Amino acid sequence: FNTARFGQHILKNAQTCQRCAEANLKPTDKVMEVGPGTGNLTIKILEKAKHVTAIEMDPRMAAEVIKRVQGSPAQRKLDVVIGDFVKVEPLPYFEVCISNTPYQISSPLVFKLLSHRPLFRVAILMFQREFASRLVARPGTALWSRLSANVQLYAKVDNIINVSRNDFRPPPQVESSVIRMVPIDPPPPVKFEEFDGMNRIIFSRPNKTVRGNFQAKGVMKMLEQNRKTWMATREMPIDDNSSTSELVDKVLTDAGYMESRAAKMDIDDLLKLLSAFHDIGIHFS
Ligand code: SAM
Repeated sequence: FNTARFGQHILKNAQTCQRCAEANLKPTDKVMEVGPGTGNLTIKILEKAKHVTAIEMDPRMAAEVIKRVQGSPAQRKLDVVIGDFVKVEPLPYFEVCISNTPYQISSPLVFKLLSHRPLFRVAILMFQREFASRLVARPGTALWSRLSANVQLYAKVDNIINVSRNDFRPPPQVESSVIRMVPIDPPPPVKFEEFDGMNRIIFSRPNKTVRGNFQAKGVMKMLEQNRKTWMATREMPIDDNSSTSELVDKVLTDAGYMESRAAKMDIDDLLKLLSAFHDIGIHFS
């Protein structure tokens, strides 16, 4: 197999598989597995769940999984979809998502899951340790980042197992971790593009003050443009007495974030700040 192309490092250690699969499964669960590979994990999931739809990009791997359950009672509990998860539309119905996919699709996978409806109950996902650590990082710690905030806006995430690279064949370059992601239901009523747009600015240098990041080259200009467009589409006159830069300072002062740094702001702080910007007509997308 061409392991480089599809990131195919197969999990050998059955115990690790078992722990991943059993972590959160109920007998009534419909599971979506992304990237089943040769199906080591799939057969464990099939023992515990009602149904599995496995989405696999590599047709040879898909054939392998199908072959593995052929003639067994598990056969009618398994559907295999051949395709790139990022592009598969619509996704099958699922309550639980389980995945051990390559690094390149980590971020698209997470955000595709979080924007999918109906909301799933829980996702058990294996990632490179570095990515996993950023997903679960808490405000005020070194790895708290735009990714952490964007994901934790919509889900509770925690690290459940660290997996050694030697549990895979061939062993990948890096260590892995399994995380659990539980969506917040109902999700907060905020437009993702807005939340992310503000985070792009203030997390560009997380240890610099929010105000300092807003003064970065290009930022004020962009906000000015957004504000003009926003006012125009609502047929509101631009209040020319105050510049966007003055408005930003006013928001930061009134909301109490003049000296704040994104590195230490939690989700509530970020939502409060975003809402203060919106109140005054400043938008980020
Ligand atoms: N889950 C198996 C295990 O733990 O042994 C295999 C994991 S292997 C790291 C990743 C699998 O994801 C490979 O079978 C690969 O072909 C598949 N894959 C890679 N990119 C994919 C994508 N975009 N959509 C669906 N499957 C993908």
